[in-house]
Amino acid sequence: MSAKPRTALIIGCGIGGPVAAIALRRAGFEPVVYEAYDRSATHVGSFLNLASNGLDALKTLGVADAVTRAGFATPRMVMWSGTGKQLGEVANGETLPDGTTSITIKRGLLHRALRDEVARLGIRVEEGKRFVDCEEGVHGVLARFEDGSEVTGGILVGADGVHSRVRQKLDPRAPKPSYTRQLSIGGVARLTLPAKPGTYHMTFGKRAFFAYAISPAGEVYWFANVASETDREALAMEAWKARLHDLLEGDAGPALDILDATGDEIAVYPIYDMPTVHTWHRGRAVLLGDAIHATSPSAGQGASLAIEDALVLAKSLRDTDDIAEAFARYENARRARVERVVRYSNRIGGTKIAGPVGRWFRDLLMPAALKLFASGKSHAWLYRHHIDWEQAA
Ligand SMILES: Cc1cc2nc3c(=O)[nH]c(=O)nc-3n(C[C@H](O)[C@H](O)[C@H](O)COP(=O)(O)OP(=O)(O)OC[C@H]3O[C@@H](n4cnc5c(N)ncnc54)[C@H](O)[C@@H]3O)c2cc1C
Repeated sequence: MSAKPRTALIIGCGIGGPVAAIALRRAGFEPVVYEAYDRSATHVGSFLNLASNGLDALKTLGVADAVTRAGFATPRMVMWSGTGKQLGEVANGETLPDGTTSITIKRGLLHRALRDEVARLGIRVEEGKRFVDCEEGVHGVLARFEDGSEVTGGILVGADGVHSRVRQKLDPRAPKPSYTRQLSIGGVARLTLPAKPGTYHMTFGKRAFFAYAISPAGEVYWFANVASETDREALAMEAWKARLHDLLEGDAGPALDILDATGDEIAVYPIYDMPTVHTWHRGRAVLLGDAIHATSPSAGQGASLAIEDALVLAKSLRDTDDIAEAFARYENARRARVERVVRYSNRIGGTKIAGPVGRWFRDLLMPAALKLFASGKSHAWLYRHHIDWEQAA
């Protein structure tokens, strides 16, 4: 395997997929993206915290401005106990020397900004193409789709998310995502609140964790984390609202008003994370993003890590004609970092929903822990991570 493959088949057009397409084009490839759903797939009520390290990687690809314009800066977080005591105020990530801070952005708008750049570069996205299988041939890798079609390319990039089919094909014994026993329910409301735009207010309530931030346009973006034994709780929106009402009842803060002011813009997601995935690549196929290291959303890093992966993978392929060598360099550059973030995020998630004793300790100890967090540069490794495109991989 030494001739540089020209075509890159990218499976999945979520976040890592389109970024990989943009980066691989820059590295000299001809990418084509295959997405299972069609454009009608909506992300109503769903939004993300995109951290400075993810935006920094997008800047290298020239997409950061479009993404930043579609979101709003959220550089601060204020933590509250369910009884209304302020536990502390900390930065949401770190501000980079050029002023870049974490932003909050609707998932649909992030997808659109990335897709617009993919279209501008003339990269093809084929929708309604659900990948089912792949096979190595002498001249490349063959991908098969559910509709019976097939396509051959030089390399195949699995950016197909937490339930990745590509991961399963690369290693049938690969671990499955583990359900964290928490659901995330989020939405966007319109109401007037006294808080200033751009700060997350996070309440560690008695039965649920609730957070909100106000956009400069006056929309209130909110999410709640609740405990749930099953990841398949399909309740109608009204039923979710009623259930959240019960769980948030009695906690201080505007959660119930926000809930009442929310229309149908509610999204419910089970939260997973992935144990270590041993096989990141095999032959001409490689994984990125949630497909290899889904992290629970507590650290607000999943999207940023997928973006970083895409950039490093493209750099590695740019700098050698040997695919095996390029994939090995990519894994070598990324594995320790992404696994550290997964562990970090998992720890934060564990503090969100606690029993009465755990709550008492948490509310007592958190102010000191937050002071420590706010004072040091302890999170520079996370938020100031910079990938130098010009430097050899
Ligand atoms: C509730 C919740 C809140 C979150 N909040 C944040 C946050 O605040 N900040 C943050 O950084 N991250 C957050 N995340 C994590 C973030 O969404 C993911 O880490 C990120 O989307 C990963 O990008 P990806 O491209 O790897 O996968 P995805 O974005 O999941 O994209 C995968 C794509 O592949 C497609 N696909 C799947 N199977 C196939 C197939 N067989 N064939 C073809 N296409 C396929 C899917 O339709 C999808 O479009 C959150 C996640 C959840 C669940």
